[in-house]
Amino acid sequence: MDFKQLYPHFIEEFDDKPKEACGVFGMIAPGEEVARLAFFGLYALQHRGQESCGIATFDNSNVFIHKDVGMVSQVFDEKNLSKLKGDIVVGHTRYSTTGSNNVCNAQPVLVSHKDKKIALAHNGNLVNANLLRESLIKNGYSFESTTDSEVMAKLIVQELDKGNDLTTAIKTTFSQCKGAYSIVIGTNDYLIAIRDPDGVRPLCIGNTSSGKYVIASESCALDIIGAAFVRDVAPGEIIFINRQQKLNSNLFVSSIKPHHCIFELIYFSRPDSTFKGLSIYHFRKELGRQLAREAPVKADYVISVPDSGTPAAIGFAEESKLPFGEALIKNRYIGRTFIQPSQMLRELGIRLKLNPIRDIIAGKKIVVVDDSIVRGNTSRKIVRLLKDSGAKEVHMRISSPPVQWPCFYGIDIDSREQLIAAKSNSIDEITKFIEADSLKYISHEGMIKSTSLQREIFCTACFSGEYPIEIPPELEGAKLRYEQAASN
Ligand code: SF4
Repeated sequence: MDFKQLYPHFIEEFDDKPKEACGVFGMIAPGEEVARLAFFGLYALQHRGQESCGIATFDNSNVFIHKDVGMVSQVFDEKNLSKLKGDIVVGHTRYSTTGSNNVCNAQPVLVSHKDKKIALAHNGNLVNANLLRESLIKNGYSFESTTDSEVMAKLIVQELDKGNDLTTAIKTTFSQCKGAYSIVIGTNDYLIAIRDPDGVRPLCIGNTSSGKYVIASESCALDIIGAAFVRDVAPGEIIFINRQQKLNSNLFVSSIKPHHCIFELIYFSRPDSTFKGLSIYHFRKELGRQLAREAPVKADYVISVPDSGTPAAIGFAEESKLPFGEALIKNRYIGRTFIQPSQMLRELGIRLKLNPIRDIIAGKKIVVVDDSIVRGNTSRKIVRLLKDSGAKEVHMRISSPPVQWPCFYGIDIDSREQLIAAKSNSIDEITKFIEADSLKYISHEGMIKSTSLQREIFCTACFSGEYPIEIPPELEGAKLRYEQAASN
């Protein structure tokens, strides 16, 4: 089943935000119910990918795996979780940035070398996956999926087939991989974590009260199982952890220049996660404060586009000394739905997701704060919704700069044609398109200043066009490149 193929219009129509690539989770914990803990870890990471998910567990000699299309609560139940035995676990929740969404692309990817199994879960995107895949095929390796994650797993197998030990095989594999990857690997003996030399996607280490190590995309997945944040996995670091909880760390590149995705701070990560020890919520509020200093407006109320725009809206309201009101209530349970869009649903549009509180809005000048504008359709619908609810004026304020460039590092913004800020020449044109009384974005400098960190440690390519990891020209708009190649 592939719900994008079944219901393509529905997804497009009601979901106009960039999509995260994936969430990963791993744990090595003799004596604990690791599959159940991974289930809750994946629940906390559900925002990073809602198309498919999976869990693989290992004991000393066996592997158990269950994965499918759907959200964590749809894919797992008591029956299938109870079959996932063992004390090492790797979990994954996926949005497809390379390859389409079907069950064979669900992760963890499971590969074999002799009688040993390896399960790999990946967040990010390789920019040289095509080349690596072609060379593997030339060397006689075949593929079951269309993901770059399977390319990495098969590269490890190729290195093992050459007679290398697992440490050398992993080091050699990842020194060939270019792009963004935060990875958790499970085997019968180890839990392994790997982060690319630019550290584009997040990956952190936690420790439970009984001293068991946990690896997760975000600290919110540690919190949910009662584990404490220890540290981030460093860019270019490979970590091996054994059952005795001995952690062995290696760097697989000689020079490290981090380029953390700044969009993680603005939108993707959960506000209760941390970045360099500080809450994402704190950063987002600061973005709102900075935005208020840069683009003040005389208004009656500041409201947010929930949920991701809320901390910035609170910061904007505090800095402007304006009241913050919750005027758009999110229907939290609509989520991803399999219902096909009838004419009636099309007419309901944004109302399926957001319901306005007219008492707050009617007759008022409203500042509405959101984290980003991608295509512009959702912003236009929100402005119309507020005006239909009686707003006198609607001023849109955005806590990121204009998104003008595609992302090749694991976020689904893969063509400039999709981006209103790339298509339209001016902010005035975008303001007209979304039908707002005014529109302002935070400046690039303001965004960086709000982090209190150096500009150099961030990737800001979707705002600036400056890509820290070289992009092959053939990649733009090539999300389904393997399928296209196969059908030619
Ligand atoms: S291009 Fe944008 S979304 Fe992609 S990694 Fe860089 S900052 Fe993040």
